Amino acid sequence: MKLGFNEATTIGNSTLEQDLVLGEKLGYDYIEIRTMDKLPEYLKTHTVDDLANFFKTSKIKPLAFNTLYPVTFNDAAGEQKIVDDLKYMIEVGNKIDCKVVIGVCNWDQGIKTKTEIKDETVRMYQKLADIAAPHGVKLCIEFCGAPVHTVNTFEQAMEIAEACNRDNVGVTLDCYHFHAMNSKMAALEACDVNKVFIVHLDDAEDLPVGQGSDENRLWPGDGAVDLDGILGTLAKKGYSNAISVELFRPEYYQLPAEECLTIAKQKSEAVVSRHFTLG
Ligand code: ZN
Repeated sequence: MKLGFNEATTIGNSTLEQDLVLGEKLGYDYIEIRTMDKLPEYLKTHTVDDLANFFKTSKIKPLAFNTLYPVTFNDAAGEQKIVDDLKYMIEVGNKIDCKVVIGVCNWDQGIKTKTEIKDETVRMYQKLADIAAPHGVKLCIEFCGAPVHTVNTFEQAMEIAEACNRDNVGVTLDCYHFHAMNSKMAALEACDVNKVFIVHLDDAEDLPVGQGSDENRLWPGDGAVDLDGILGTLAKKGYSNAISVELFRPEYYQLPAEECLTIAKQKSEAVVSRHFTLG
């Protein structure tokens, strides 16, 4: 199993330039690049060719762009921006060999029915998938574990991904989000595991359903998320894509980035190695 880290883990204490150096030094297999802040900041003083050259000469590789947002319920200009953002990620991805884009659906759209959400999310992901497919780019639906989020459980995201009927549309399974809205382990056991494109690894404080936020995340293994249940089920089903640690905890941003990524890696390896062979 390959282990990556999402740059959210060091939003408050590092840059893409530093994340690349540290990720390589610490032996991570993959990095997920944040497109809303760290990539544009990096490109103020570097070029996409610099990034491509880094990856050509390094062991660490790009896993995904994070995040295409908000994918759904936009007005015409907003929808065009999503298409343009995707095309930009495809263009950069073609140069650095990054072939996964993670999308997140909308928050706070007022009350929408599950049918309205499914119809809109399928419509948009099919449209984006058809743009991405000729480039070999896959799209993930990342459900988010909060009541106001339009797609907030694993089973809902998986139902939508399957309804898209596109080989290049799947789901990001973030363990915090899975826990936070009480996604069902039975749905994970029953799912088509080939539709799980990426796993985000993290843990969480023991809060009631719907009460937490990303900031309540903890180092993997230190919290209330049933990581053994999730990872054990994924292993049993033959999951073989990457696992990427993703934390958003402000107190971790107080640490030097190297210490933060070192602890994240050690904690991740301890949990993942109970179910997968690392490397
Ligand atoms: Zn995530």
